[in-house]
Amino acid sequence: METYLRQIPAVNKILAEEKVQELLKDYPRTLIVDSIRGVNEQLRERILAGKLSSDSELAINRVVELLREKVKGWSEPNLRATINGTGVVIHTNLGRSLLAESAQQRLVEVADNYSNLEIEVESGERGSRYDNVSELLTYLTGAEAALVVNNNAAAVLLALDTLAKGQEVVISRGQLVEIGGSFRIPEVMEQSGAHLVEVGATNKTHLRDYEAAINEETALLLRAHTSNYRIVGFTKEVALEKLVKLSNDNNLAVLDDLGSGTLIDFSQYGFELEEPTVQESIEAGVDVVTFSGDKLLGGPQAGIIVGKEEYISRMKKNPLTRALRVDKFTLAALEETLRLYLDLDQVVEKVPTLRMLTLDLQILADKADKLKEALAELNSNLTIEKAEGYSQVGGGSFPSERLATYLIKVTVPGLTANQLANRLRSLNPPLFTRIQDEEIIIDLRTVKEEQISIIVNHFNKLLEGEGE
Ligand SMILES: *Cc1c(COP(=O)(O)O)cnc(C)c1O
Repeated sequence: METYLRQIPAVNKILAEEKVQELLKDYPRTLIVDSIRGVNEQLRERILAGKLSSDSELAINRVVELLREKVKGWSEPNLRATINGTGVVIHTNLGRSLLAESAQQRLVEVADNYSNLEIEVESGERGSRYDNVSELLTYLTGAEAALVVNNNAAAVLLALDTLAKGQEVVISRGQLVEIGGSFRIPEVMEQSGAHLVEVGATNKTHLRDYEAAINEETALLLRAHTSNYRIVGFTKEVALEKLVKLSNDNNLAVLDDLGSGTLIDFSQYGFELEEPTVQESIEAGVDVVTFSGDKLLGGPQAGIIVGKEEYISRMKKNPLTRALRVDKFTLAALEETLRLYLDLDQVVEKVPTLRMLTLDLQILADKADKLKEALAELNSNLTIEKAEGYSQVGGGSFPSERLATYLIKVTVPGLTANQLANRLRSLNPPLFTRIQDEEIIIDLRTVKEEQISIIVNHFNKLLEGEGE
């Protein structure tokens, strides 16, 4: 180990290498020196952990190669475009919703110019950033008032903190939702300082269970939409209208956490599961509704809060709102996305999430054929098969809905499905696929037309030995 440590090339020796002198023409010297130290530190750690396979790893040309990769890494973006071949439309790890083209333009516009974010143009007086979206939100949902925060988790937190801090919140046991990334209703509740009162059983909760739980400490009845699971079989939940009546009779408020939150009725597109609309909740008389901007709505990440003026204005005054506030980019993209909902005939075509969720099966078949034929032309021993299958909605929406789609299954001789998937991810842009029965699967639902040729190129490179 000691001899290995002494074999790590000195900084000056590495700097003197010709290839490093080349790098110095393109990158600042401090960055290169720091990177050399970083590479040497990594080697030291490998040695100390007993992971060095032989001292050839310490040869100067190997070290210079590591250095070049590290230095080049500085100029390449970490967060970048990928190709989603998984067919999961609202894929949280791949960035959830894509923005409509017009919403993208708004982003660029407010990025490149000063905007009227907090100024009323007519009077020149100070305005509220939320005014930029509240009229659209109240018009589209039927609510009296609206507010937007960073994400839906923040929306629920703000609502609980404002309406129920130090008081009791009653919720059915069947609705104690956990959303991926450690959002759990009981934990958010604790964070807000509200006390959780669970009622009913996992599968059945009756109105009398709520009635029995109400006392002078009660502030709120909470309904959480079980957006990422469904309890089926011998089940009962109390209808929103009944919760609203109970809350009115007892001077309480009802908070409805819809999670995904949609403004359109998906049953018209053949969806079997019911996803409640925001309008339905408002219509039922709910006081406050919260939902995400980047799930079924198809906009930017945001937590949208709509409801009665009295509650929304209390939330606006809560100091937490300042900490959870959205920036101008979110507002610009959200406003434009909402504007598209003014025309219900067109919104499904223009908002990518809605478009992908409602794609015609024939279009999916055509895309699959196109990919299959182009891959077959590569003249290799790839095995390529077109098959019928299912895509998922994702984002914890429509949990068991299966959307019919067409898939391309590919195998490459000598590579396991896992190895192939790893290599496809290592190319640029990374291609994410699904693995099923030892085959990789590309679901064309989430692949753009113009990405098909990139995928073919990836396989071409892979067959030529790149991405190893
Ligand atoms: C997704 C979801 C959340 C969290 O929303 P984010 O926008 O991811 O913060 C909260 N509640 C429900 C019911 C959800 O589905």
